[in-house]
Order: sequence, then C-alpha cells, then structure tokens
Amino acid sequence: MNEADPQKYHVITFGCQMNSHDSERISGMLEQRGMVPAADQDDADVVVFNTCTIREKPDQKLYTQLDQAKGSKRRRGGNQVIAVGGCLVEAQRDNLLAQFPWVDVAFGPGRIRDLGNFLELADGEGASVGQTPGDGEGFYGIADERSFASELPTRRDRPHQAWVQISMGCNMKCSYCIVPAVRGREVSRPFAEIVTEVERLAADGAREVTLLGQNVNSYGNHLPRDGSPRTFAELLRAVDAIDGIDRIRYTSPHPAHMREDVIAAMAECSSVMPQLHLPLQAGSNRVLKAMRRTYTRERFVDLAAKIRASIPDIAFSTDIIVGFPGETEAEFLETVEVCREVQFDGAFTFIYSSRTGTEAAALTADFIPPAEQQRRLEHLVDVVRAIATERHQRHVGSVQPVLVEGAARKPANRLRGRSPHNVKVIFEGDAPDGAIVPVRIVHATSETLLGRQLTDAGELVAAPASSRSVVTFDTIST
Ligand code: SF4
Repeated sequence: MNEADPQKYHVITFGCQMNSHDSERISGMLEQRGMVPAADQDDADVVVFNTCTIREKPDQKLYTQLDQAKGSKRRRGGNQVIAVGGCLVEAQRDNLLAQFPWVDVAFGPGRIRDLGNFLELADGEGASVGQTPGDGEGFYGIADERSFASELPTRRDRPHQAWVQISMGCNMKCSYCIVPAVRGREVSRPFAEIVTEVERLAADGAREVTLLGQNVNSYGNHLPRDGSPRTFAELLRAVDAIDGIDRIRYTSPHPAHMREDVIAAMAECSSVMPQLHLPLQAGSNRVLKAMRRTYTRERFVDLAAKIRASIPDIAFSTDIIVGFPGETEAEFLETVEVCREVQFDGAFTFIYSSRTGTEAAALTADFIPPAEQQRRLEHLVDVVRAIATERHQRHVGSVQPVLVEGAARKPANRLRGRSPHNVKVIFEGDAPDGAIVPVRIVHATSETLLGRQLTDAGELVAAPASSRSVVTFDTIST
C-alpha cells in the first residue's frame, strides 16, 4: 500500500449496538493499517458487511446487498475484497461462501482482531480465507478461540460518546434467540481492563459511556472470587468514580439478574443515568415460560416498582415480541396490560420471527398467521406510543441537561441531543457537540422533546435568525 494512494474501506452495519460497536473497532483497525474511509461502496477496495441474524429482515436485506456486492466487485474488475462478519456468519457457516462465492473473507464476532490478517490473505492473491493453510472450512468464530476486540483502535463517530464491551456471549436459553448459538457462552472481561479502557476514553474526550453485553448485568458471575471487585454493581461504581465521565448507561440487562446491589448503585452513582432498558418480551406467564425467560409477569412488575421506589424519575424502555407461537389474544392483551402497569417511556416492538436453530422454531404448528401478528403489533404500538407521549409530558416546563450530539436533521438550524432519560431532544441553541447544556423543554411527543437552550443564568439562548424566521416548533412532525 502506498501512502499517497491509500486503500479505502467501507463498513456496512446491521443490527444491534454491539454490532455498531464492533464496526467502530473494524473501522479503527482498518485505519490503523493505513486505510481511509471510501466515499461509497463502489469506491472501496475493501467492503465489510457486519451482519446480524437476530431477526429475519436483516438477513434478507443482507442477502440483497451481497448480491449487489457482486456487481460492485465486477465493476472494479474484481479488485475489491468483500468481507462478511458478525452473527450471520456463525449461523450460516456451512453455506455462506458456497452461496456467495464472491465473498473473500468470513469471520465470526469473536475474530474481529484477526480481520486484518484475513484481509491480507485475501488481498492481491485472489485467494479466499477458505484456502488459508490451517483452516479447512474458511470460517472463523465461536468454534475457534474467541477474544475481546477491546484493545483494537476505535473510530468513533461521536468523540464524546463511547460503547464499552464488558462481556460477550450469553448463558441463557431464551427459546426464540439465536445469540447463544452465534455468540457463544458468556465471558466477562477483566474488571481492571474495563476500568482502564474507560479512563482512556475519558482522557480522550468521552463524557458518556454505554456498557455493553448480551446479558450485561450478569457481568462477573464467572470471574474469580478472589476478593477483588468483580460484580456489575461494583463496576458501575468504579466507572462512576472516573473523572470526566458524566453519563453511564448500560444495555441489555436481563430482568432475572437485576440484583439489589445494582439498583443501589444506580440510585447512588450520580453519573448513572435514570434510564433503564428492561426487556419484558411478553406479559403472559405461559408465554414467558415458553420463551424460557425465567421470570413471571408479577416478578417483572415488582422489579420495576422496586427500581422506581429507589429511582423515582427512572425512564424504563423495553423490548416486546408479539405473536410468539401459540400466543392467544388473551395472552397478547396481558402484554398490553403490563405496558400500562409499568408505564414504559419507550418500547421496541417486534413481530416474532422464527430463527433456524432455536427451540421456538420447531413450534411450527402454533405459528400465528402474519396478518394477525401485524394486527397485534399495530395495537401494541398505539398503546406504547400513547403511554410514552403521556410519560414525556412530565418533562414539559422542566430544564433538562442535554448532551449535544450535533445538528438536527430537521428542522434545519436546530441542535439534537439526549436527555438524562435518553430521550432525543431537538432544540434551539448554539452549543458545541459534546457539551452538556440546560434546555427548557417546551413540547413532548412519544419519541422527542423539543426545547430551547438556556444560558447558565437561565436566559434563553438566541437561535440563528434564519432558523427563527423559517421554522417554528409547532411545525415539527416527529
Ligand atoms: S438473555 Fe435471552 S434474548 Fe438475551 S441474548 Fe441471552 S438468550 Fe438471547
């Protein structure tokens, strides 16, 4: 490679925050090797697809994009390395290369740190990793040695926000979930290593960190019990003590593992934000049992109440699956009831999607017709939106410290940021990215707060004249 004409890369990410974080590592590692971002896929010498297989839709989207990648490679006369990483590679390890022979490199989520070596093998020689000596199958991942990619360089789009992986894999057996099969058994990263990484991020300008794991609050269960700190609660406290870190979030916890020491740490650590993503999945005990979620509706509701008693202003968000095999109308309505009872500030709602290799995929006789699944989803979305809109009204008139993320997409000349409750805030103001500024909230919808920045003295910060003359908040549709 020559410095005057560096190779270019393009990373396309599917799926969850863990994947987004992995993509930051992939980009950072490629840049460390001298590559630069490409303008688009056709412009790239190396294209990396970082895949997800948790739901069917991303799979289909990826297959379409992989078909298109064949075209972009052909347009470049074959001079383009196509790499596919992430969970789908593990799930499809037996047939991905056969189905898409123009893919040069396939690597599992546990082998990101080896990607550079794989690319070198594929680059120039026209050889696929499948032809690499010592690897007969051409796939890399959980069957091989896994490792955290945490020491790799990272290319963060927002310097003031960072994800920190604290564990990988999952030991639960949720009957609909492919994650344990593709990400392997749960492994916790050493405590001191995480603290060191957060200290480094803080020195590098990060103000907010999100601790990531498939089952984040079971962190430490398998670390040695040698008297040194190892629990998730202790980790929250250790990260809270790091100078420069103003906001700590984490995702995703399992309700069954939400211990009292974690709730106490959340309540007592000023940097831990009053926001918790607590996946419900279903409100019927029969469905929860069939999902193997290991808690009951009553236990979930009690847990939410207990957390709210310790952190009164907490904002709960959740994940819900509708139309799980065999779910009756009455059972679906129990989910709706739990939403009303817990009062979520937001919810990610999904139609059940069968994943090959999961226990629930065998329940074909009980599959719910797609039209009925869709009807239930729409009903649930209406309910959660109404609840979220109502919940967010409590912020109207208040002043929220907002972490500025940049310019809003619409309307022009507004800024975008996040409240402590992790709600998007669109506001008039003049603060730089990464600042935390007071914003008076003037309007709230189910997903967005609208407001105006204040000075430290509590005065309104004037927005640019052009924005005031063109758009008023009443015209914003969110
Ligand atoms: S807790 Fe359940 S849903 Fe979450 S990753 Fe583990 S198996 Fe999947």
